Amino acid sequence: MSLNPIASGDAAWRVAVVGGGISGLAAAHRLTELSSAASRPIEVTLFEAGTRFGGVVGTREISGYCVELGADSFITNKPWALDLCRRLGLEHRLIPTEAAWRRALVLHKGKPVPVPEGFQLLTPTAIWPVLASSLFSPWGKLRIAAEYFLPRGKAGDDESLAHFVRRRFGREALERLVQPLVGGIYTSDPEKLSLRATMPRFLDFEKSYGSVIRGLRRQANRHQAAPTDDSGARYSLFATLAGGIGELIDVLAQRVRDRAMMHLQTAVESLLPDSEGARFGVVCPDRVARRFDAIVIALPAYRAADLIASFAGRAAQRLREIDYASTAIVVSGHKLTDVRHPLDAFGLVVPAVERRHILAVSFTSRKFSGRAPAGCVQLRTFVGGAMQPELMDLSDDEILGLVRRELSSLLGVAGQPDFELIARWNRAMPQYHLGHLDRVAQITSDLARFPGLALAGNAYAGVGLPDCIRSGELAAERVAVWLEHLSPSTNG
Ligand SMILES: Cc1cc2nc3c(=O)[nH]c(=O)nc-3n(C[C@H](O)[C@H](O)[C@H](O)COP(=O)(O)OP(=O)(O)OC[C@H]3O[C@@H](n4cnc5c(N)ncnc54)[C@H](O)[C@@H]3O)c2cc1C
Repeated sequence: MSLNPIASGDAAWRVAVVGGGISGLAAAHRLTELSSAASRPIEVTLFEAGTRFGGVVGTREISGYCVELGADSFITNKPWALDLCRRLGLEHRLIPTEAAWRRALVLHKGKPVPVPEGFQLLTPTAIWPVLASSLFSPWGKLRIAAEYFLPRGKAGDDESLAHFVRRRFGREALERLVQPLVGGIYTSDPEKLSLRATMPRFLDFEKSYGSVIRGLRRQANRHQAAPTDDSGARYSLFATLAGGIGELIDVLAQRVRDRAMMHLQTAVESLLPDSEGARFGVVCPDRVARRFDAIVIALPAYRAADLIASFAGRAAQRLREIDYASTAIVVSGHKLTDVRHPLDAFGLVVPAVERRHILAVSFTSRKFSGRAPAGCVQLRTFVGGAMQPELMDLSDDEILGLVRRELSSLLGVAGQPDFELIARWNRAMPQYHLGHLDRVAQITSDLARFPGLALAGNAYAGVGLPDCIRSGELAAERVAVWLEHLSPSTNG
């Protein structure tokens, strides 16, 4: 196998980014931004195995519907996606959620009922809507309200989401509301999900204020008195782009393409560190090892493991320990007259205790404007996840049939849809199980002897688009700092 040497006196640092999802694109983009301030230009090469950029993000136009196959929006109280949109000149394309339908429904004994107003994932911010809700028994309501007065728990090690919610709010809150709401984000089993790795602020509220409800209310009051971040007020809690999240991918990829080399359909097969572990050969299907001064690996953890297994076996093993869930989304377009339910919300989440075959339905065109033609509605129905993995073994036709039956029974959807498609995302959702933060810290420490190698992606410090963007940008920044440490005399 030949190794392309870097010619002595070469003017640029060479950095490879492996993976062209949002994390890899964000890393490549940040490297091109940093290039102008570096002591030498940074020459970036991005390798993507697939036929397009974006990974699990993709937007399509179908019969007048703007269809998202993966992510449909991003949270605005984490600033990194908004900030990237601004840097790409996309601020004027951002759209907020539709104020008229800003609420969620949860299935209760076969019927959709509103999530109590002010309920934030685990916690009510106001007690009255909980007391007025038909979701809980009288005892369940009392148990939730009692959280305000419960003594602080002992600060232990990692705690599962389920354990924490049962301890603070009782079993009904977990089964009827928290499990489906959180399941909608992580598609996870709450008994295994690490609260510290996913929603640490709730643990911090308990620690600082003695009660989660009290902490959340104090925070809300402080924010009202002195708003520090304008994003919530300007964009609502979630935002997207007028042309869908795919617009962000397209503009980002174009910006990177203008300043870097990008290869589609080029799966990196292995990495070859030099004897000092400082630089790497990147081996692609043509079997030529191109040499780089640094690498950002922006892949699912189990694929990153394949690339490093030959020289960092322990880190590879730990990467493989990060579990993944699979999910399928059935996207469909309907005439509003074919739907009995008023769809007066952003969507419906389905608790596991209801024993249905779907996890959630997003009323996508109620959430954002421009997602369906006039008089029509776009629905995205989620199936599978960590709680019902066996459903992923069904054929596409079986899943479509099952979703049709559920939509008919729960929302009164009838007639022939304008379109219907299924997007399968196999092993796409990393599961932040108990011990996740320790595992990631160990991986980081195992890889510390390869300072020119950085990991990015949704497997480590957050699964949402803003987290992925941040992970890519942080990886780029780490790599740029490392390049400045490389002595010019050793280059080549
Ligand atoms: C169904 C679904 C819905 C979601 N909804 C939302 C949402 O609404 N809001 C939100 O914020 N987040 C959402 N998420 C989460 C978010 O979309 C993902 O966490 C994020 O897009 C992952 O990006 P990534 O770049 O880390 O990984 P990926 O998108 O998985 O990208 C990895 C890329 O690497 C490529 N690749 C793999 N192997 C190789 C190789 N050997 N060489 C080169 N390339 C390789 C792959 O082809 C892929 O393009 C959702 C996720 C899913 C699955």
